[in-house]
Amino acid sequence: MTQDNGNSQDVQERIGVYVCHCGTNIAGTVDVQQVAEWAATRLKRRGVVIGRDYKFMCSSLGQELIENDIKELGLTRVVVAACSPHLHEATFRNACQRAGLNPYLCELVSIREQVSWVHTDKVAATVKSQAVVSGGVERVLRHEPLEPLRVPIHPATLVVGGGIAGIQSALEIADAGYRVYLVEREPSIGGHMAQFDKTFPTLDCSACILTPRMVQAGAHPNITLLTYSEVEKVDGYVGNFVVTIRKKARKINEELCTGCGICQEKCPVKVIDDVYEAGLGYRKVVYTPFPQAVPKFPVMDVENCTYFKKGTCKACEKFCPTNAIDFNQQDEVFSVEVGNIVLATGYDLFDARRVTNYGYGRLPNVFTSLEFERLSNAAGPTNGSIVLRDGKTVPKAVGIIHCVGSRDRNFNNYCSTICCMQGLKFAHLVHERTGATVYNFYIDMRTAYKAYDEFYQRVLEEGTLFVRGKVAEVTDVPRIKDEEGHLIIQCEDTLAGKQRRIPVDMVILSIGLQPRADAKETAKKFGLSCSADGWFIEKHPKLDPVATMTEGVYIAGCAQGPKDIPSSVAQGAAAAARVLGKIQQREMALEPVRASINQDQCSGCRICNNLCPFNAILFHDDRMVSEINPALCQGCGTCVAACPAGAISGTAFSNEQIMAQIEGLMLLNVGEEITL
Ligand SMILES: Cc1cc2nc3c(=O)[nH]c(=O)nc-3n(C[C@H](O)[C@H](O)[C@H](O)COP(=O)(O)OP(=O)(O)OC[C@H]3O[C@@H](n4cnc5c(N)ncnc54)[C@H](O)[C@@H]3O)c2cc1C
Ligand code: SF4
Ligand code: SF4
Repeated sequence: MTQDNGNSQDVQERIGVYVCHCGTNIAGTVDVQQVAEWAATRLKRRGVVIGRDYKFMCSSLGQELIENDIKELGLTRVVVAACSPHLHEATFRNACQRAGLNPYLCELVSIREQVSWVHTDKVAATVKSQAVVSGGVERVLRHEPLEPLRVPIHPATLVVGGGIAGIQSALEIADAGYRVYLVEREPSIGGHMAQFDKTFPTLDCSACILTPRMVQAGAHPNITLLTYSEVEKVDGYVGNFVVTIRKKARKINEELCTGCGICQEKCPVKVIDDVYEAGLGYRKVVYTPFPQAVPKFPVMDVENCTYFKKGTCKACEKFCPTNAIDFNQQDEVFSVEVGNIVLATGYDLFDARRVTNYGYGRLPNVFTSLEFERLSNAAGPTNGSIVLRDGKTVPKAVGIIHCVGSRDRNFNNYCSTICCMQGLKFAHLVHERTGATVYNFYIDMRTAYKAYDEFYQRVLEEGTLFVRGKVAEVTDVPRIKDEEGHLIIQCEDTLAGKQRRIPVDMVILSIGLQPRADAKETAKKFGLSCSADGWFIEKHPKLDPVATMTEGVYIAGCAQGPKDIPSSVAQGAAAAARVLGKIQQREMALEPVRASINQDQCSGCRICNNLCPFNAILFHDDRMVSEINPALCQGCGTCVAACPAGAISGTAFSNEQIMAQIEGLMLLNVGEEITL
């Protein structure tokens, strides 16, 4: 510790500089003691009155050091040189506040991510840390005390996506006594889980565990179920969102419909059901996607309806006992006010046709995992019989290929998490129902969660054969007599160290999970970002996995990344807990670090308007100037940097502050040359 008891010569402020060791994270590469001493001596003229180093500045003892100095030495500004502000800015701001200093007079500079983690030379790293500290001192000198903005929280919540994650969120919030608008784009809630037969690892019947929740959500007095609906626009900010929703016309009057199903029975037109039956079964043109659908009302597929195509038919109208068919019904567009939003829009499946060498779409008995779910489902097109595409032949040998489209540089690099367990579930079902020989082709077996490895052992004991190695090809071209009339799986068996050709009758491709095709568009609508792979990005991958960088918008389930049902439910509940926490505060404080536009300087060029990732900038056509909504602005600084007129400045990141920080980094105010 080094202390200067004299007054600084150049500035009036009294600044404390605190340099953290972060264990050996920083101290292993930076001479932290030297940085603290250097700051206290060389930056004396810039107002630094004390420089301290400490092993873990974020610990309660480290924070107490700062708090005591503020009180005892009368510090008016604080610079902490430690890890990234993303991690501990709030910690040190709170410490300042406890000691009576406005928290925004604290500056956190990173000498871990920006110095010790990216350098190996201790001398150079120490000099760079000095420069970083000097930059922080110059910037903090120009900070102003700020007060948080306070906004009321509307108690209603919007949940988008009625899969298991969204249903869980909606139920938790509704059970706590608050209104939920649950928006689902399909005619029924349920999501992917409604299509499955059994669920790993416990083999519960999917419908048996899902439908009670669906019914509960449909009947809950606090849930307004908006199926066959989509969000068109989101205005406002945390606590005060105004959401525009389009409820598509079902052509059914929901007040009159009893869900008796007579219209479906009488409708003469059948079409292939590409959604719920994954193309394996049929549905009528007026239909409910599945028997347990919630709500029970059917929907009319106007594109295939004979009346809409030719002006005749109306069989459904003729037979409906309650006159509920309404061919003239139009979409409804309306707005709801909510304080928080949970996005649980789930996933799409990888298109198996892209792996041309596996023959999906060309070889009839190559199935996708979703097709197999429908095939094995008692309510599916074959009533649960596992048969070939001809609808009757029971396979004698089945090959299940893992990681199709996942862990593959040509397609998706990431692991889809659930495919190994899904492949094991299929092996069990094939064994149980057909007695066929089953081969699972895997790269690595990933059975990491509760009761998963036990399930793997069970499938092994049942006699499933496992081949470790990537499948090169699925072909119907035989090389020997035994291969004739079969599909042949050509693969490398890396454990046996040889190439193999295994004849089977049916191939099931464990296709990977992908972000929704419209995920980027959805993200933009709600002010979120997507990862390089396209999943919605969480605020922090470990410490804040259901919040996002947009206050009041949460994510849950597979919209955030591939995961199984228990994790989707856990995230749904976690997002609900965060929302309830906000609602119960009634009002909340928003970070005052925001941008603002000097309207006299704004030239009306609108360059900033579309750059803001949080849609915070609006344009006044009458006055031809842009304006920032401070409640929506997250203080990212994009617009500040982009404005050609220099009309935008940010509290805590004005041009003056940034320029001063750069001068500080260059040690211009110290008159010191950087020598290594
Ligand atoms: C073949 C297969 C088998 C599986 N088997 C198992 C298993 O046995 N056990 C297990 O634990 N996990 C299993 N999984 C994983 C499981 O499917 C997921 O964990 C779970 O479905 C994720 O739920 P979700 O609510 O996040 O997403 P989803 O089920 O995809 O639901 C999302 C919902 O959001 C709706 N939606 C999407 N976009 C919008 C929008 N813009 N506006 C309104 N609504 C929208 C969708 O229509 C859908 O209803 C399996 C996955 C596959 C592919
Ligand atoms: S026949 Fe009428 S009441 Fe029955 S499900 Fe169809 S629309 Fe509803
Ligand atoms: S700083 Fe500018 S670009 Fe960033 S959130 Fe605020 S208004 Fe949008």
